[in-house]
Amino acid sequence: MPGVPKNTRPDNERKLNFWERLYLPEIFKGLGYSFRKLVKEPQYTVEYPDELWDPPDSYRGRPVLVEENGSPRCVSCNLCARACPPMAISMQSREVSDPTSPKEREPAWFEINMLRCIYCGFCEEVCPEEAIVMSKEYDLTFQGRDEAIFGMDRLLVPVEQLTDRLDYLEACCNKQEAAEPWRHREDNNLHSLKDRDYVESLAEHKMPALKNTHLREESPIAAGNTWDGSAESPADNG
Ligand code: SF4
Ligand code: SF4
Repeated sequence: MPGVPKNTRPDNERKLNFWERLYLPEIFKGLGYSFRKLVKEPQYTVEYPDELWDPPDSYRGRPVLVEENGSPRCVSCNLCARACPPMAISMQSREVSDPTSPKEREPAWFEINMLRCIYCGFCEEVCPEEAIVMSKEYDLTFQGRDEAIFGMDRLLVPVEQLTDRLDYLEACCNKQEAAEPWRHREDNNLHSLKDRDYVESLAEHKMPALKNTHLREESPIAAGNTWDGSAESPADNG
């Protein structure tokens, strides 16, 4: 008859006994299992939104920018935007005008489109400054698409409120399989430091390796390849 499935492998079927064909004992067994779980197991659910879940430090909520001493830690290197798979991050950098600042650049503006963000944490992973981290905030709602584009006003969070995540990153995520482990909090921000005295003091007291990386005597520019205008340009050579 059309529409009636045909059992093509009847030999593989186990024969049911009388009680199994009744199904009732199996139903009561199942109910007994559920009842035992009901009274013995701890409760895993919460009455959201009256009760809010407190995520563990490893949780990846919305990404936020770390604010330190009233300004973003971000040095506007653009790495997070390049690493972001759905291209949710946009920014424009500018030079820091304050000569005492250890930073050379900072973001003039910085935006994350939270409708695009997939909470992957790649931005946090590539950031050399721990300037963008995944927070514990998970309940985001928007009335329109424009509201989902978070600027610096919504992204910046004081570092004091992010210590759980920063400590977690320090303990779990900055390990490297190398003889010389990466000590993030000490090595942080060296690539953008203008303060040569600070680098020299670090090299002297804590990090002698800096003498070979940041304090080399020889010029890194090959002879005859200067940018002072003395070398002939390819156009001059005809
Ligand atoms: S968490 Fe992932 S998707 Fe979201 S901004 Fe960071 S890199 Fe982009
Ligand atoms: S990777 Fe970090 S320092 Fe670089 S632009 Fe992104 S947030 Fe700023």
